[in-house]
Amino acid sequence: MPELPEAEKARRILERLCVGLRIAEVEDADTWVCRPHQPGELDRALRGEVVTAACRHGKFLWLETDGGHELGLHLGMGGSIRSAPVAAPRGWDRIAIVFEDESRVALRDKRRLSRAHLGAGIDHLGPDALTITPQAFRKRVGTGRAPIKARLLDQAVLAGVGNLLADEALFDALIEPRRPAGSLAVEELDQLRSSLRHGMREALKADGGSGRGRFARARRGGQCPRCGCELERATVGGRTTYWCPDEQPAGAPR
Ligand SMILES: [Zn+2]
Repeated sequence: MPELPEAEKARRILERLCVGLRIAEVEDADTWVCRPHQPGELDRALRGEVVTAACRHGKFLWLETDGGHELGLHLGMGGSIRSAPVAAPRGWDRIAIVFEDESRVALRDKRRLSRAHLGAGIDHLGPDALTITPQAFRKRVGTGRAPIKARLLDQAVLAGVGNLLADEALFDALIEPRRPAGSLAVEELDQLRSSLRHGMREALKADGGSGRGRFARARRGGQCPRCGCELERATVGGRTTYWCPDEQPAGAPR
């Protein structure tokens, strides 16, 4: 499942493949992925315009054009950005942009859970997890009675963190995932923000995705990669969650 690092990698690909090019045609026949638009609607809006920027907020992507349009793109569970010659087979391409130079950039998604629509579609999102300030992080994340893990996953609070990044960062910051968000000390919140940023940067550097961190790899084996004790497992915030019971204590540290 894509988290912020996968979205940022896709944004960089979009930037490299699309920015500066004029749109000749948009293949927008998939009425499910392009809902609520009808076939031809995205094409009519964007045809002839030049892509000026590839942007990201949390897990959401969008292209901006010189005509003032935004084409929102969401990768769903397993969508990816592909570049292919116009004549190549279409397969699982859900939407594609053909440029005047005859290059073609497609959103490929076997499971059809991706989205494409006019407008960035980010109004419901909290600040981006990679750029949020310590002050905003303390105020938004460190509040309420919900488990801290659930708070991290709430995209309206903080945009971009998924299940694996959340577990990895809580493990790194020595915080038990079920603790009420409002019970965390300022130092713990600052550490958590820093652990999250570290996890995202590492995932951006690695070839793989957010599942390649030390803790994400170890959780399958059920053993803490630091102290070797057996990991605890429970559903927190609706997601399967792992933590080290020795190093991530249930109460606030004394
Ligand atoms: Zn441990």
